[in-house]
Formats: sequence, structure tokens, C-alpha cells
Amino acid sequence: MGEHQDIEAPAPIGVVGAGTMGAGVAQCFAQAGRPVVVVDPHEAARRDGAARLRSGMRLRRLLGGGGDTSPADAAPVEFSAELGDLAQASFVVECAREREPLKEEILRELDRVCGPDTILASCTSAIPIARLASFTGRPDRVIGTHFMNPAPVKDAVEVACSARTSEETLRRTRDLLAAIGKKPVVVGDGPGFVTNRVLMLTINEAAAVLDQGTADAETVDRVFRECFGHPMGPLRTGDLIGLDTVVDTLDVLRTHTGDARFRPYPLLAGLVADGRVGRKAGRGFHSYPQSPLVARGETSHG
Ligand code: NAD
Repeated sequence: MGEHQDIEAPAPIGVVGAGTMGAGVAQCFAQAGRPVVVVDPHEAARRDGAARLRSGMRLRRLLGGGGDTSPADAAPVEFSAELGDLAQASFVVECAREREPLKEEILRELDRVCGPDTILASCTSAIPIARLASFTGRPDRVIGTHFMNPAPVKDAVEVACSARTSEETLRRTRDLLAAIGKKPVVVGDGPGFVTNRVLMLTINEAAAVLDQGTADAETVDRVFRECFGHPMGPLRTGDLIGLDTVVDTLDVLRTHTGDARFRPYPLLAGLVADGRVGRKAGRGFHSYPQSPLVARGETSHG
């Protein structure tokens, strides 16, 4: 699947995982006119992901977004349970849960079913790209595309290259991101790259500050908003990411750095054990009584 074919009839973009990020990333490509195939083995995740994608498109229409492309021009998004349905994809973004054995299994299978030219990108929050690339026979065509959440409204993508990621892979990734209106910020490889090496520690420390009674959750976040001018505080950011994903990411960071500072603080781990995983569950550090997912009795899958 070379550039020539891309110009004549765009090959589909593959997205693996229909959760928070998978649905958002699929929306980004579809609204830019690229057909998408989303693969998730869980039926409920596919159903919820499709619903989130539809409401994301609706919201975009209501807000008048989209530039020259009307939502009616959005390319089709198909949902499937089978990675084999990504055989024709020119570019795949893996957005499954932040568990290394799961990503290993998916990347090995993608390497088998996809064409030799297909770029395997991962939305991993923290697993080094060199590690993910080692699960494939194409380490030069593996790259990190760390979209931000919510993907459709965030302008920039942290693009992480391992020492073996080729110039050609970086060029094709930059071109594709530019075509969907995203700015790539290219960084090197390493656990958590730039974003999550710093952010995960901040969220974990914010949980410690909360637990030790220095301030309540609202005040912790206010300090970051009103003193630093951040749009959100660390606790609301954790809730938006999903506290289960935060804990998974801290575990990955601890495994790959050996640094005990990445051990999830007991308050944070306790919230996850209680199912209070943040906005997608309606409750985390803060409460979200209007959460549409809770209203429909839906939570995260993975
Ligand atoms: P999520 O829990 O919302 O979704 C994960 C999805 O993976 C679920 O739908 C689950 O059904 C699916 N899945 C499980 N097993 C699978 C398999 N074998 N094949 C395909 N799909 C499978 O998680 P998320 O927040 O969307 O995170 C996905 C990835 O993106 C993770 O690596 C995470 O670290 C990263 N990330 C998350 C955020 C965020 O803010 N949530 C931001 C950037 C990157």
C-alpha cells in the first residue's frame, strides 16, 4: 500500500480498541474523510464506542466545527471484532488498554495480518516504542502516536520515535496527522515519553496531597487553575483520563524505570478498586452526576 494507492482511493485507517481513545481517534480520521475500521473484541465496547463517536460527530456539528467538511462528508466507520479486518489498512493506531501483554498480543497479530508497508502506531501512554516494536518484524514501521484526550478537540499529538523508527515512517505519520489537522510534537523514546513521565507523577502526588488533608479535591485543582493558569487541575485530569488507565500507566512506568515513585498512591488505587474510575464512571476524585455514560448505566470496558 504505497503513496500512489493512498491518493487514488484512501486505504482504511485501522483503530484497535473502541474505548475512550479508540472512539476519539476514529472520529478524527473519519471527519477528515478517511474511512476507518475499528476493532474491539468486546461487543459492549463496540456499541458504546459507536455511540460516543456518533455523539462526538453531533457535538461537532452543533458547535459548527469542521471547516470545509460537513459531518455528512465524514467517511464511514466500521466496527469489527477481528484484527483480520485490518488487512487492507495503510496505518493502524493501537488504542487498547495500557497492558503490555495485551499490546504484545495485538501487535504480533497486526504484524501478521497487515501488509508489509503498513505503519503500526500505538497510542500507548507509557510503554517505550522500542519495546512495542520488538514484538513485530517491522521495528522501522512502528511509532508512537500519543493522541491527547479528547482526541477530536486536541490539536497536538505527541509522536514518539524509537531508535529504529525510520525517517520514512516519521514522514508518513507527520503527513497523515497534518491531513487530519493535528500538529505532531516529535519526541524521543522512553517510558511515558515527555507527557506521562511528568503528568502521572503529578496526578499521583495530587492524590497524596488530598489524602494527607492539605486541601480538598476542588482546592487542589483550583490551585493549578488559578495560580498556574492550567485549564484543569491534576485530579480532574486524572478523572478525564480514567483512573484505571492512570493506575495501569503508573504500573508500566514503574516496571520500565524501576522507580518506586510511580507506585500508585493507596487512595488512587482504592478509588479504582471501588470502580470510581473517573468521568466515564460518573465518579472519581470528583463526582459527575450528569455523565451520559452513567445515565445509560455504562462504564468503561477493557
Ligand atoms: P479504555 O479502557 O477506555 O479502552 C480500552 C479498550 O481496549 C476497551 O474498549 C477494550 O474493550 C479494548 N480491548 C481490550 N482487549 C482488546 C483486544 N484484545 N483488542 C482490541 N481491543 C481490546 O482505555 P483508553 O483510555 O481508551 O486507553 C487506550 C490506550 O490509550 C491506552 O494505551 C492508554 O494508556 C492510552 N491513552 C489514554 C488516554 C486517556 O486520556 N484515556 C490518553 C492518551 C493515551
